[in-house]
Amino acid sequence: RTRARCCHHVHAQEALPTLSALILSGSTVAAAVRSEVAERVARLNERGQSVGLATVLVGDDPGSQIYVRSKHRAAEAAGIVSIDRRLPGSVSQAEVLATIAELNEDDRVTGMIVQLPLPDGLDGGAAVEAVDPGKDSDGLHPFNLGRLVLSRPAPLPATPSGILRMLDYYGIETAGKTAVIVGRSFLVGRPLALLLGAKGVDATVIQAHSRTPDLPGVCREADILVTAAGRPNLFNATYVKPGATVVDVGINRTDDGLVGDADFDAVVDVAGAITPVPGGVGPMTIASLMVNTVALAEAKDD
Ligand code: NAD
Repeated sequence: RTRARCCHHVHAQEALPTLSALILSGSTVAAAVRSEVAERVARLNERGQSVGLATVLVGDDPGSQIYVRSKHRAAEAAGIVSIDRRLPGSVSQAEVLATIAELNEDDRVTGMIVQLPLPDGLDGGAAVEAVDPGKDSDGLHPFNLGRLVLSRPAPLPATPSGILRMLDYYGIETAGKTAVIVGRSFLVGRPLALLLGAKGVDATVIQAHSRTPDLPGVCREADILVTAAGRPNLFNATYVKPGATVVDVGINRTDDGLVGDADFDAVVDVAGAITPVPGGVGPMTIASLMVNTVALAEAKDD
């Protein structure tokens, strides 16, 4: 465990050393998860089964290209075969669906990711729904989201499950705690609320969003505050109860580079623990995609 600022070196001009949050390193946890995945892949390979992750990338959005590249890198490091399908932004919806149908039929493909968002004019939701639910590495197919609502086993949405894995790794208690999740997207906020409130995790969940009155006051109720609004540096110290755990999901491209939703420098002195951006939730998301991919291959093997 590392501390953000070292309290041993108290400089003369500083009155008292401030308490500083535990930094929750997603990079560290993700490396551990990835090596576990690599072992599982190796066991399948020994039995003659390969694990293959296909990505479908439409258009040339630079952010999406970076995400897809890091997914391939993580897959290859774990011994998962990468299948990289790229379509120009000018394709029709029918061509996108035909590509997905082809990958559904391809035995080398045991898991698939449709990189969202699709360019304007294409229906990302319909594309996700076209993926074979048994190959849904993202855990975003309506069938699998439905199973999540029903507490039935399913590939879980990667960002929410990565967050749970990280809290578990650092021994951050969820049972009996109040979790405030800011954001209600199908990708992050909504499934995370289900997972944090599930039996065995047992947080009391408050889902906040853009229409929530007195957002700072609601956030100050949180023992665990998850910021997934996509608003750079919105969450300053006034949103954080002293000692709370802050999980910053936001990835915002600004003139100062990549920043989270939390104002890290201000919050780090109030929170008990905080995830950095980058190096926090992002690597956990990718690690969780690899977990889903190997688990789907194992299920096929049974
Ligand atoms: P989204 O735009 O689909 O949803 C944002 C949500 O935040 C909405 O539900 C909205 O109600 C809420 N919101 C917006 N502005 C708000 C405000 N001012 N106050 C309160 N609530 C507000 O976004 P998303 O796909 O859920 O992603 C959210 C952020 O997380 C983005 O920055 C995205 O880049 C990032 N993200 C990171 C990862 C990762 O792996 N770290 C994965 C997915 C998304």
